[in-house]
Parts: sequence; structure tokens; C-alpha cells
Amino acid sequence: MGMDATTYFMQRAIERLNISENLAKSLKLPHRVIKTEITFLLDNGKLVNYNGYRIQHNNALGPMKGGLRYHPTVNEDELTSLASLMTWKTSLLGLPFGGAKGGISCDPTTLSSSELERLTKTFIDKIKDLIGPSKDILAPDVNTNSQTMAWIMAEYSKTVGFSPGVVTGKPVFLYGSEGREAATGNGVAIVTEKLLSLDKKQLNDTRIVIQGFGNVGSHTAQALYEKGAKIIAVSDVKGGIFQKNGIDIPALKKHVAKTGSVIHFQTSDAITNAQLLATECDVLIPAALGNVFDKESANTVNCQYIIEAANGPTLPEGDEIFKNRGIKVLPDILANSAGVTVSYFEWVQNIQKFKWTLEQVQSQLNTFITKAFDNVINIANSQKCSYREAAFLISIKRVLESSQALGL
Ligand code: NAD
Repeated sequence: MGMDATTYFMQRAIERLNISENLAKSLKLPHRVIKTEITFLLDNGKLVNYNGYRIQHNNALGPMKGGLRYHPTVNEDELTSLASLMTWKTSLLGLPFGGAKGGISCDPTTLSSSELERLTKTFIDKIKDLIGPSKDILAPDVNTNSQTMAWIMAEYSKTVGFSPGVVTGKPVFLYGSEGREAATGNGVAIVTEKLLSLDKKQLNDTRIVIQGFGNVGSHTAQALYEKGAKIIAVSDVKGGIFQKNGIDIPALKKHVAKTGSVIHFQTSDAITNAQLLATECDVLIPAALGNVFDKESANTVNCQYIIEAANGPTLPEGDEIFKNRGIKVLPDILANSAGVTVSYFEWVQNIQKFKWTLEQVQSQLNTFITKAFDNVINIANSQKCSYREAAFLISIKRVLESSQALGL
């Protein structure tokens, strides 16, 4: 297997730091890899087996933190890359967390709600000794949501005692935080506006294309729409839609709630996901799965800016092409970091048993995001490197400093 994207991007930053090969290796490899078989009964009485994973990458800065995804393509290599990405994201934001990622290789669309509950609870029962509010804290990701998180809290608390802090992204009425659901998308909109303003551009004359219309894609679209941007194309797993004069996002959200997809919306033109990525626009926002920008798609994109709302959308070869084409890329570890930041606020509230208002959440979020954004821009300017290299440089330095102080 070749080097995964996260390791490749880490390597680029590490080359700028004067550290030994073995120390670099200790930053790249995961702290612990958990693989477990999940056996449970379907509603029809049939016994099934799925593979569940939790990759705990690094805990130099605190308990490990990361999402849990349910998808047929889930595998150990990809999760390891995503777990590493979490280490760098929490570090970049200055959060007291390390990085982790988990997943179950399954197609959740074929499972009923009670089957999903049994799947989730069986998985948590298997890994309960290795997770917890001061060990490893889970969160929603692709195809998991606040309901999944409530099941995790219930199963973990059953043996360990009441522990809402084992998981974030819970329902607001069940120890969740105000503002968590929309946080990632809102953060994407905040950094998009900041990046454009560096070039004296404003959102109200900006054409935006978004791939993915789940939690992150839909909230990103809504926030940018409210700030006056024109969202000209969006897509989901079933296909895409294009409307030259801009899509009415609140109406689209109603259409999705009713039909389950963005396709066949009003008078929009139907497009494929490949066409969507090549649509002429100012800002392109991948907000679905990773590995979207390979050599081919990176050459066909027709935009000035890419904001990585998804985790790991750009492959190393895509990144090189964007650099050569002068396309500015705001990396995932900065662009989608509002999700984990509000997750941090949720964990803080759970531990302190004290609830914040939405205003408190938004104001603290702005402080964290602005600080990380300014930091990345300053380092990119002073080191004459890409935003991605700057982001990795900052975050790797912090983890390194802590690891060395803790003693290896
Ligand atoms: P989600 O399951 O809510 O939504 C995923 C969306 O992508 C859906 O609209 C789905 O139809 C679409 N999709 C799936 N496969 C596709 C394909 N092949 N082509 C086009 N569209 C496809 O998931 P989410 O939570 O919105 O996560 C999206 C991305 O954002 C992931 O990369 C995730 O890791 C990342 N992320 C999520 C959060 C969060 O808070 N939820 C935070 C940071 C990063």
C-alpha cells in the first residue's frame, strides 16, 4: 500500500522540522487499533456479523476524540488516516484532546432503527473498557447522528455509571450542546467568508458548489445562503442539481425532508457528481466522503477556492495539481474544525454539569476558529507554504512539544 494522504501531508510538514525518523514514525503510527466482530440478530431472527473498528491515534494532548461512521467502505487503513487527521485537527484548534476514529463496515440504509440500535450497543459493549470521558470520546460522522450518540451513552452508562461525556453530538435535551448539530456547517461558512475577505471578496457576489447534503453540506449551504452567497449546485449520493441563479436552500431542505434526496428539486437541471465537481464557480466545497480529488477530478475543477468540509477529500496528487493551478485550498483540519470544537464545549458542559446558552457557544466558537484561522494564515505567509502545510506544521509542533515534555 502507498502512503495515505494524511501521512503524506504530515511528511511535508515534518520535512520542515528537524526531527529523527523514529520520532516522526511515532507521530504517524496509531497508539492503538481495535478491531472487533459485532454479532447481532436482525428483526427477522437471522444472525449477522459486521466488523467494527476504533483507531486511537495519539493522546499526547488529552483523551482521544473522533467520529464514528457507518458505511460499506469503512476499513482499517482509511480509519487510521482519519484518526491521525483528528490528532492534528484538535491540536490545531488548541483543544485538550488527541485523535481517534471509528466505524462499522455496514450499509445502514438496509437496517431498521431497532437493528441499528442493537448494532451500536453491541459495538459499544465490545469496546467499553477502552473508551470513556477521559480515554476516548466518540461523535457523529457519516450515517450516524444524535440518536446513535444517545444509544452509545445508554450502553456505556449501563456498566460504568452515568457518563454523558463518553460521547458528543447527543440530542440537546439529553446532555447535548446547543449549536452542535449545525456547528460544522456554520464553521465552514465562517472560514469561507474569512478566506474570501483576505482577497477583498464578499460572499454576496460568490457562486458556490457543494458536494453532499447531509449534516455538514446542508448546514453549510444554509449558513452561506443566509450570508448572501449564491449556491448554484449541490448533490448527494443519488445525484446533483444545478440552478444558475442560485438554489432556494430553505425550500430545498423541505424537499429533502420529504423525498430523501436533493434530486428532482423544482426546475433545477440534473447533473452527476462528476459534473458537479467540474461546475464553474468561485468556491467548491466537498462535504461528502473523502478521496474525491484525484488526478483527474483535480484537473477538471473550475473554481478559485476549495474549502474542505469533508475529511480527507484531497489525495496527494490532487493537492499538487491545485498548487500548480493556483487554486487556494483551506484544509479539512481547519475548515471543518467547528464540529470538534463544539464537541469540546459539549464535553466541558457534561463534565461541569452546567449548560451553556447558544450565544455562549457561538461566541466561544468564533474565538477558537478565528485564532486557528489567523494562526494558519500567518504561518503560511511567513513560511511561504500552503495553508495545509501551515496547519500541519502548527499542529505537529504542539503534539511534539507535549510528547517530549511527557517523556517518550
Ligand atoms: P452525512 O451522512 O450526514 O452526509 C453525507 C452526505 O454525503 C449525504 O448527503 C450523502 O448522500 C452524501 N454522499 C455520500 N456518498 C456520496 C457520493 N458518493 N457522492 C456524493 N455524495 C455522497 O455525513 P456528514 O456528517 O455530513 O459528514 C460529511 C463529511 O464531513 C464527512 O467527510 C465527515 O467526516 C465530515 N465531517 C463531519 C462532521 C460532523 O460534525 N458531522 C465534522 C467534521 C467533518
